[in-house]
Order: sequence, then C-alpha cells, then structure tokens
Amino acid sequence: MRDLSAGPRVLLRRLRELMAEPLDPQERLDQIVRQIAQNMVAEVCSFYVLRADGVLELYATEGLNPGSVHLAQLKMGQGLVGTIAASARPLNLSDAQTHPAFTYLPETGEEVYHSFMGVPILRAGRSLGVLVVQNKARRNYREDEVEALETTAMVLAEMIATGELKKITRPGLELDLSRPVTIDGDGYGEGIGLGYVVLHEPRVVVTNLLNEDMDLELKRLDDALGSLRISIDDMLSRRDVSMEGEHREVLEAYRMFAHDRGWVRKMEEAIRNGLTAEAAVEKVQSDTRARMLHLTDPYLRERLHDFDDLANRLLRQLIGKGPGSSEDFPDDAIIVARGMGAAELLDYTRANIRGLVLEDGAVTSHVVIVARAMDIPVVGQAAGIVSLAENGDAIIVDGDDGKVHLRPLADLESAYAEKVKFRAKRQERFRELRSVEPVTLDGVKIDLMMNAGLLVDLPQIEESGAQGIGLFRTELQFMIAATMPKADEQERFYHNVLRQCGNRPVTFRTLDIGGDKVVPYFRAADEENPALGWRAIRLSLDRPGLLRTQLRALLRATAGRDLKLMVPMVSEVWELREARQLLHREVRHLSRFGHHLPRSLQFGAMLEVPSLMWQLDELMEEADFVSVGSNDLFQFAMAVDRGNARVSERFDTLDRPFLRMLRQIAETADRHGTPLTLCGEMAAKPLAAMALMGLGYRSISMAPAGIGPVKSMLLSLDVSRLQAFLLEEIERTGEGRPMRELLAEFARDNDISL
Ligand code: PEP
Ligand code: MG
Repeated sequence: MRDLSAGPRVLLRRLRELMAEPLDPQERLDQIVRQIAQNMVAEVCSFYVLRADGVLELYATEGLNPGSVHLAQLKMGQGLVGTIAASARPLNLSDAQTHPAFTYLPETGEEVYHSFMGVPILRAGRSLGVLVVQNKARRNYREDEVEALETTAMVLAEMIATGELKKITRPGLELDLSRPVTIDGDGYGEGIGLGYVVLHEPRVVVTNLLNEDMDLELKRLDDALGSLRISIDDMLSRRDVSMEGEHREVLEAYRMFAHDRGWVRKMEEAIRNGLTAEAAVEKVQSDTRARMLHLTDPYLRERLHDFDDLANRLLRQLIGKGPGSSEDFPDDAIIVARGMGAAELLDYTRANIRGLVLEDGAVTSHVVIVARAMDIPVVGQAAGIVSLAENGDAIIVDGDDGKVHLRPLADLESAYAEKVKFRAKRQERFRELRSVEPVTLDGVKIDLMMNAGLLVDLPQIEESGAQGIGLFRTELQFMIAATMPKADEQERFYHNVLRQCGNRPVTFRTLDIGGDKVVPYFRAADEENPALGWRAIRLSLDRPGLLRTQLRALLRATAGRDLKLMVPMVSEVWELREARQLLHREVRHLSRFGHHLPRSLQFGAMLEVPSLMWQLDELMEEADFVSVGSNDLFQFAMAVDRGNARVSERFDTLDRPFLRMLRQIAETADRHGTPLTLCGEMAAKPLAAMALMGLGYRSISMAPAGIGPVKSMLLSLDVSRLQAFLLEEIERTGEGRPMRELLAEFARDNDISL
C-alpha cells in the first residue's frame, strides 16, 4: 500500500525550505504553487487571496495563464473559489464545469481542466483566501489529498497573517485581514476609547508548523491530551460551591470532548501529514471554527464554542502561554477578551488602558463593575471580536453606543478622535473647577460627594474634587473576591479606604448583596423575583453573623475617627432599630476588650423602598441621617426594572409623581432636622441634579465623572428662583408638559450650564 503520508510530508519539507530562502514574496509564491502542483500531480495550482473589498484576487498560479495573476478576480460567494471562501468548506469535484456555481474566467484559460479541488485558507476560522488544484482528466481527489491540501493551506495562511504579502499588494486593494469591521454590542461602561488591540489571552501563535519527527509529535499530542484530561478531572473533583450549576456542565462537556475519538483522530491525521502537534491542533480548531460560524443552532454553536476553548487549552499545554509580554504593550491598549476575571483586569496598568471589549460578559459581571469603577469604556456582547481581532489592530470602543470599530477607516477614526478631544477639553474645564466651592449664585452651599466601592475608585476623589464619599458600596469587595473576605481582610480594606480619603468624610453602606448583586460563594436558592427577595438588610438581619463581622471590622478600622454608616433596602423602621442594636452590641464588645473606638458614630438609613413614605416621621426620628437611593426607589415606586433595556425609556426620574415623592422626603427631613442626601445615578446628571436642588436637596453623591458637570451647573443656578417655579410645576395636574422639558427650558432661559 502507498504511504499516504509521504506525499504531504515531502511537500511540507520542500515548502519549509522555500520559506527559509531569501526570495521576494511573489517569487516565493510562484515557487510554492509550482511545488504543490508537482507534488499533487496536478496541472494547475492557484492561490487566491481575499481582499478587504470582498474580492478574491489571484496571487499566484502554476498552469493558468501567468498574465492573469493579480487580474483574475471573483467576488466572495461567486464561482467555485468564491463559494469555498464564503462557506469556509472545501470543494472536491470531478467535473467542475457542471457545478452550478462554476464561473469561467476567460483570462485564465482554464476551460480545459475538469477536476477541481479547492480548500479555504483559514485563520481562526476566517477565510483569508483559497487554494486550488486542477487536472484535465476527470478524477476524484481522495479524502487524504483534501487533507493534504488543507495542511498546505496553513503555510499560506501564515504568510498572509504575517503581512508578507503586503509588499505585492496594490495600493487601495488591501487584504481582508485589514478589513474594517463594526460590531454591535452592549455599552456597559460609558466613554470612548481609541487604541490598539491587546488580546487578553493572546492566541497561542503557532510558528513551528512543520514536523521533523512524526512519532515524536504524535507522542507530544498524546501527552498533552493526557494532561488536559487530568486537569479537567481535577477541576471537576474539586468540591467548590462556585463549581455547581453551569460551570460544572461546561466542564462535563469538556471532559466528553477531550475523549472524543473523532477530534483526536483528525489531529493525528494532520500530524501524519507533516504538521507539528500544535499546528495540528490549530488546523483542526480552525476547521471547527469555520463550521461554527455557519451554524445557526444556538445549542450546537455553544458546544463548538466549548470545543474551541478546549483546543486553546490544549495549545497552551503544548507551547505554554503566548508572548503578550509587557514590552509590546501599547500605551493606548484596548483589552479584548472573551471574558475575564476582575482581578485579571486589575493586573494591567490602568494608565495604559483606553477600553475593554468583551465577547461575552454581562453588565453585572465583576470585570465590568471594576472597569466602570476605573472609568474605562466597556462594550460587552461583542460577537466574534476575539477571532476577528489581531494584536495591534487599530480599534475604537464606543461605550456610549455599544459599538466596536475594528480597523476603522480614516474618516471614522478622525471623527472619533475629534469627539475624544472635545470631551477631554470639557474634562479639562471641569478639572479647573476642582477647587472651586460648590455654591449657587444665590449663595446656597451644596455638598458634592462621590460614590465608590473599590480601592481603584479612590484616586478619583482628588481628580473630581469630591468633598468626600457619600456612598461606599461595601459589597463590591465581596463581589470580586473568590472567597468570603475574612474579618481582618475587611478591616484592612476599610482602613485603606479611609487612609486614601485623608480627612474627607466617608459614608459606608453595610452589605447590599442579593438581587442583582451576586456573591459567587454565597448563593442562596434561586428566587423568582430576586429584586424583591432575600437581600440587603433582610439577609443581614437573618444572618447576623455576617453583619456583625462587618460592623466590627468597620468599628475597628475607624478607631479615633468618625464612623458614618447606613443600611440598604430598609422597608420598615424596626429593621433599622434592630441593625442599630447589633451595632451597639459590637461597640460594647470592643470596649469590653479595651479596643479603641470611633470618636463619633452616625447611623443612617437608605430610603429605597416606597413603604418608608408612610413611615417618614418615624424614620427621620430614628435615623441619624437618611440617604435616598433613587435607583431603587424609582424602580420600586414606578415598577420599572432598573436593569431592563425594554423599559429604560420609562426610567425617567424627572417624572412628576417621583419628584413629588422626593419633595415630600426633603420636606419631612427638614422638619425633623435630619440630614438628608441622595446617592442614586440621577445625582450625576446636571438637569436632574438641578431639579434636586429645587426640591430642597443640599447634599448629593454620585459617580465621580458627574461632579464637574454638576458643579458647573450649580455655579450658574439661582436656587430660590428655581424652587418657586418647580414646586408649583410638580403639583400641576392634568395634561401638563413633561417636567423634563420644562426643566430644560428653565435652564435655557436662565443661562444655566448643563
Ligand atoms: C440606589 O438604589 O439608588 C443606590 C444608590 O444603591 P445601588 O445602586 O447600589 O442599589
Ligand atoms: Mg439601591
């Protein structure tokens, strides 16, 4: 029997020699196609490359009219070659001219060739071109010959990807690899970032394609598969709470695939054809990806995704992590990842990151929370970005619109650059206001505080000119940790927060977990309505151990300082009372053991549940201060889910009924002399913040980016004039004009800077 592997192996050896010779690219290509034709006993071998305009251009041929090189072209999907590129699947035909897609290109003189075998040139599942052999005689190419041609195509994919063909690319007719792509995703973190792609998990770049010793490579593959299977079994046997549910399912699927004979056989076959173990994994992975791109069944796509991931793991087993070293890290990096952990993002130098793009990722995922805290523009759900992007590609992240522009055209890039410049200028103006006192035109002093939750937030206190932290969301430390932070870790963390804030006041909020704030190691049973479920203060009172540990850590961290503390999601005043008792118990405990205590203690409530509207007097008496959580208060009062895009139009905090509610709160607080603040997102929007001033709020807390614009607004505001207008307008009944419109008009008429 003929040794099937001899043909491709000899060919690959010859190609390797050709790659090493100092030839110019066209000559190298010409020799490559000649070699392939000879080796495959074909009269024709042609190499087409996909251009950015979607046209496949003939780059080299042996056998067809040499004058047609760089002239013969087919559109994607047109003719046999276009069909192969579009479907990313090979075609093997004994009589090509009878195929419905056959198109005759007169310049090539190919009418005499009957049999045709073409394979896509793939990289990461994308078609970069097509490689074809043809014979005059009607013959059926064998399956192993198709395999061999696919293996050879990898060498050409490498040549395209390394940019070697650029020298013979005509101006204006760039290759597809540099094609601009726009992806619609979801904007998770506001802002715009321009920069260059840094793949978070750099695709392992396989540079060593051709094997020297087939048996050795087969053994390497076998060993790597062995380690991969062991590592999956290991992960599965770990009894870890976070490993229940979906994560476990994925690993079970991985285990199944890791033993899949078909997969292993295809990789072994590629090694027998002359590839190294890693190149074989990459080849099969690329074929799988190509198939994946054409699948519509979401379940099957998901499974192939798993396969893809598994192949990456296998590649890493074979050659370790890719380079991605710091020396080639650009100053303006846009991190591109399928998904990543929050801690991994923190490993990058903040100053170099201009944006983050995630193929998966939800708005509640930890990495998104951290990215927002770091004020990094984020787009999530950017389908396909990981396989489309190459390290170093130019890219724009538009977190406002949820769009990603990969390899953008010059006009688009300059339009965005303008936008960024404009924003930077505005930012600069706001920065100049940092040390300006926030006092209105009629002399009313307003406290502008910022919201925070992580240490990475804290430098913003200086940057923004905030007077302190009006809401410190302590649950974020818990949400990004892999395991429950211990008492001493909590204490150290709070201590750090206070140290970085200097003398500025900080209001800590006790744990607000549950609802959309998921803590992986503390997963309660699924709830039908988590927003109305076992969360925040409810959970804290039912599990007092958790709250007491936190209270003790806070008391110890603020020894000798003022401790301002508030509890979230209070729906009845007794909850506040009970929490206060727990606090006093901890105070007694610490003083019994001679611990130094805070010099003052203020215990407040968040007003986020409408039921408190009918307990306002009692609440104002019981609490040392009250902070309105307008995000939740609006959500519950108006029955509009704060995270649901379908109803986001209805989430208008300037609606009359809501403003009336806010007014009633301010009035009652005033009557009782109870300090009042508001810390929901509306505080960061100049128009809404203006309305709050008119309703009587004198202290608000917001995302740091809001402080400059809000300060600029209030420096041009006459509060008493606004108050007279607003208090009358909110009481209007019947078909009044929307409050948002009226407020905007008021601002315009009174030259208020918004
Ligand atoms: C709010 O609900 O308005 C609030 C500030 O709390 P959070 O956004 O953390 O729920
Ligand atoms: Mg809330």
